[in-house]
This record gives sequence, structure tokens and C-alpha cells, in this order.
Amino acid sequence: MSKNSDIKIYEYDAVIVGSGLAGLAAAKELTEAGKKTAVITKLHPLRSHSGAAQGGINAALGKEDSTELHEFDTVKGSDYLADQDCVELMCSKAPETIRWAEHMGAVFSRDEEGDIAIRPFGGQSQPRACYAKDRTGLTLLQTIYEQADRAGIEVYDEWYAGDLLYEDGKVSGVVAYNIKDSKVAIFNAKVTMFATGGNGRLFRFNSNAHANTGDSLSIVARHGLPLEDMEFVQFHPSGLGGSGVLISEAARGEGGRLFNSKGERFMTKYAPNAMELASRDVVSRAIMEEVRQGRGVGKDGQSVNIDLTHLDPEIILTRLPELRELAIAFQGQDMLKEPIHISATAHYSMGGIPTNIDCQVQKNAAGELVEGFYAAGECACVSVHGANRLGANSVLEAMLFGRHAGENMIKALDEGVSLRKASVEDAQTCIDEMHTIKTSNGNETVPKIRTELQNGMTADAGVFRTKESLDRQLALIDELLERFKHIRIDDKSYTFNTDLQEAIELGHMLESAKVVVVGALHREESRGGHFREDFPTRDDEKYMVHTYATMDKDFNVDIEWGEVTQGKFEPMERKY
Ligand SMILES: Cc1cc2nc3c(=O)[nH]c(=O)nc-3n(C[C@H](O)[C@H](O)[C@H](O)COP(=O)(O)OP(=O)(O)OC[C@H]3O[C@@H](n4cnc5c(N)ncnc54)[C@H](O)[C@@H]3O)c2cc1C
Repeated sequence: MSKNSDIKIYEYDAVIVGSGLAGLAAAKELTEAGKKTAVITKLHPLRSHSGAAQGGINAALGKEDSTELHEFDTVKGSDYLADQDCVELMCSKAPETIRWAEHMGAVFSRDEEGDIAIRPFGGQSQPRACYAKDRTGLTLLQTIYEQADRAGIEVYDEWYAGDLLYEDGKVSGVVAYNIKDSKVAIFNAKVTMFATGGNGRLFRFNSNAHANTGDSLSIVARHGLPLEDMEFVQFHPSGLGGSGVLISEAARGEGGRLFNSKGERFMTKYAPNAMELASRDVVSRAIMEEVRQGRGVGKDGQSVNIDLTHLDPEIILTRLPELRELAIAFQGQDMLKEPIHISATAHYSMGGIPTNIDCQVQKNAAGELVEGFYAAGECACVSVHGANRLGANSVLEAMLFGRHAGENMIKALDEGVSLRKASVEDAQTCIDEMHTIKTSNGNETVPKIRTELQNGMTADAGVFRTKESLDRQLALIDELLERFKHIRIDDKSYTFNTDLQEAIELGHMLESAKVVVVGALHREESRGGHFREDFPTRDDEKYMVHTYATMDKDFNVDIEWGEVTQGKFEPMERKY
């Protein structure tokens, strides 16, 4: 750890935390525009979770498709909670974003006529997901990383951002430490962007990478800034039975059918028109309901079957090769020959750091802005997904709004933003946090607290929620926050101290979990991914609003409500 005298202060025009699709898209634009830009990332860029995206990226390219249909499907999928101006921007710019990626060198799969191939995805009235086999995210991430690298981005990889420089409504960079040697540095910048991805690791059963601990959410909350719509967590219908590892929606898009233990194709009951291609919240609840009624499959009866054996093997081998390998590796099941066991898995956070349509972070529900601070991708809530995201809209959001944030930061820099000079004292909070964790000598351990948190979130704040289950989870989180003060880590070294990093991450997880649960308790209705068994219907009169949660130093969470930007699509009952 650093003494004040070794704390380096770097100065940049722009600092971006996160090197997934959102962070790299912004960094590439900024660097090409001649802005001195640093990208800070706790992983090598190519290990960011964007690289795990399998199924596709939406754009209305089909002959029967249109931007307006894409917008309608997105707004309907969101259960009418998305901000319609942001949805319009995303859908209208989607085709251009695909061309942008293609011109950079991304190789998309092709149809017989040589056009970019598109496949159906859940909740879409037309096939709309462009893809590169089932490695779409990796293809895009590699392409954009190459181009950003060529543009000369400066990457600080295996650096952990631990604090935000925020004072008087203005952000002027971040404090981070080098995971290699625990040395702390200040990245002082005129504009700062968070692009840190999701927090799916809050749940025991999840599809997310280990790094998806949602650090930036609580970093922001610790400064009294709000988080928006955090109670909306997406549970994806097809996590592999035992592990939660994702079998992409492409499996259903290509024709996969769901069956319970009685061999019934149960989606006929829940979504007779769209069947397996209803939106994710609908299919996940159907799966969990079958399991609860005792019609599950697998050793513990906690899964259902997805069957692709009726498909031409060529389709599986050419369009879903990775999915097949995952099911063989994790479950010993070959989808060419037999159905595979799947279950709903925590997948995506619809909520996050609130931003306006230009990715500028909001200070409050009234929409006042923080100066010099931007966010995009999964950690942000520009609110294009509302209460439920449609498959293949997130990679799109990350690339499109990442780039849009980059363009807006360039504009702000060109108009003239002054640098508020940082001093070494600004690193103190981050240094104190590291010091406390390294020297505390209690008898609690990080894995134990984390496991209890994750088990509780899956059981009590998962696909089905009630006041009783959420109260139980809230009490558990409060207990765990207390116990977290008495942890001990055994590794006292300065070199690649993963014990230290996991402890810091756990602190962030506990705090953002609390915001999820308090939001879920306040929202006494069911909408999109948030299903309250005690309030099973949507209540537009009371809850057609965004939640803005703030947290004080004692972790008390306060909820305010903010307006949803309506547009041309009137709220209707959502049926598939
Ligand atoms: C298995 C899987 C499959 C998916 N498939 C699809 C799909 O087919 N289509 C689709 O649209 N969406 C899909 N999604 C969702 C989509 O991939 C993500 O929402 C999106 O890629 C997120 O991009 P991002 O740039 O916001 O963040 P990420 O790609 O997650 O990157 C986050 C970055 O933040 C950095 N970071 C985080 N915290 C810190 C910190 N404290 N300090 C420093 N760095 C930090 C990380 O190092 C990383 O570089 C999938 C998600 C999963 C998990």
C-alpha cells in the first residue's frame, strides 16, 4: 500500500473505468479525436464480460422489420418503464452501429444472399439479432479493442478503481490501485466515465463473470449519488442446471423447445402465441413455476429440459457450437443427442447509475446533472430496458451508448472543461479502506459472508418475491454488513492480493444488494423482471415511475420516485 509520498497523480482529458464494449467504444472515439484518455480496468480488456455475449446484437435490418417495430418491442418488453426518447435513439441508430462495427472489421454471420444474418430472439416481432455464430460479444470486443489499441488508447489493466473524486457537484477522476503491487494512484481528469458492467454475482445462481460485482454502483452511492431502478434484475431462462452458466437465447431463437418432467411443452400455458420466444421474465417465471409445482427435471428437480434434437445438426454445429460445448463441459449433455437441463439464472441489471440521454450522470430524481461525469453500458441506467431487457439489446446499448458517451465527452472537452487539480489527500478514503481490510483481525471470512449473501438473494430476492422474503433478505444483509466489519484476510502481501480485492468487492456487493432489496420492497407491484407474489399485477397509477435510491453512511437507503419519459407507445397489458 502507498505512503502519501509514493502516490502518483496522472492527468488526463478523460478517464474511463471499464474496458468492455461500452468503455472501449468511448475510449476509441476520444483517442481518435486527440483526447488524452486512460482506460482503467481490473481485467485485461479482452476478459471483460462483454466477450461472453453469445447470442446477438439487435438492429432492424430485416425486410419486414423497421426501427419503429424495434422501438415498440423494446418499450413493450420494458413493461412500459423505459424512457421512450432513449429507446428511439437506440433503435434508430442500431443499423448504423452494426455498420460501424462491420467497417471496423467485425465479421458477422451471413445469410444465403450474403447479407448479415439475423435470427429471432425473445419478445421480438421480427428476427432482429445479428450475430457472429454464438460468439458475438467476443467478435465485437476483439474488433473494438484492436481498433482502440491502434488509435493509441492507454490501458491500465489489472488496476482496481476504488473511489471517485467528487466534490461540489463535479467529478474530477478516480482513485485506483495497481493489483500487481497494491500501489495507489490518482487519475485526475476533466471528464470521467464509468463503464463497469453488471452485478450478477450478487446471486448464487448467475450467468455472470466473477468480476461482475457491481463495484461502481456502491462507489457512486457512497458519495450520496442515486442509483436508479435497481430492483429490476433480469433472470435469464436458460442457465445450465447446476451452474447457471448461460445457454444463450439463441438456443430458443433457433427453435429450442421447453419441456417439463411430464414431457409437456409447458409454454403453451404461459405464452400461447410466442411460446419459448416470449420475453425473458415471462419464460423464467414459467420455468420456476413448473419446478415449484414438482414438474422439474434433474437430480434435484430444479430444472426443465430444453430440447434441440429435432433441429438439423448443421444448425447446432454452425450457429450454436459454443453452446453445445458448454453443455458438454459443464453437464456432460450433448444437445445434438439429448435435451439439456436448464433453469432461470440471474443475468442482467436493468438498473444502475442514472444518466440522461447523453450519458451524463444525474444527481437526483429531478434530473440535475453531475459535472464531468458519464456512464454507459450495463452499470448505467439511461433506461432503455425499463423493467425488463430484451435479448440482444444490451450489447447494442453498450456499444451505442458507449460511443455516444465518447462523442459527448469530446464535445464537452472541445467546449472547454477545466481540470480541478487533485492532491494526494484525495486518495485517503481508498487507502483507508485497503488498510482497514488488511489489518482487521476478526473471525469472519469473505467467502462465508459472500455465500450467505448470494444464497439469500437467489432464495428471497429472486424470480419470485414477497414482503416476507424481502424483509428476511434485508435483515440478512444488515447482519452481513455488520459482520463484514469483523472479517480477517490471511494474505497480508502487496502482490496480486486477491483476498484484499475480493474483500473490497464484497463490500460493494453488500451495499448494492441492499439497494436492490429496498427498491423491491418499495415497489408494491409486479412489472417486468420484478415479480411480487403479494402484488401480482402492474400498477401504472402508482408505480409508472423510476426509483432513485440513495444511501447514507450507515447504509440506510432512501427511495425517491422519478418520472418516466413517455412517447408514442401508450401503456398496454403485456401479452405474448
Ligand atoms: C453470459 C452472457 C451472455 C450475454 N449475451 C448477450 C447477448 O448475446 N446479447 C446482448 O445484447 N447481451 C448479452 N449479454 C449482456 C451483455 O453482454 C452485457 O450487458 C454487456 O456486454 C456489458 O458491457 P459493459 O461494457 O457495460 O461491461 P463489461 O463488458 O462487463 O465490462 C466491465 C468492465 O469494467 C471493469 N471493471 C469493473 N469494476 C471495476 C473496478 N472496480 N475497477 C476497474 N475496472 C473495473 C472490468 O474490468 C471490465 O473491463 C450477455 C451477458 C452474459 C453474462
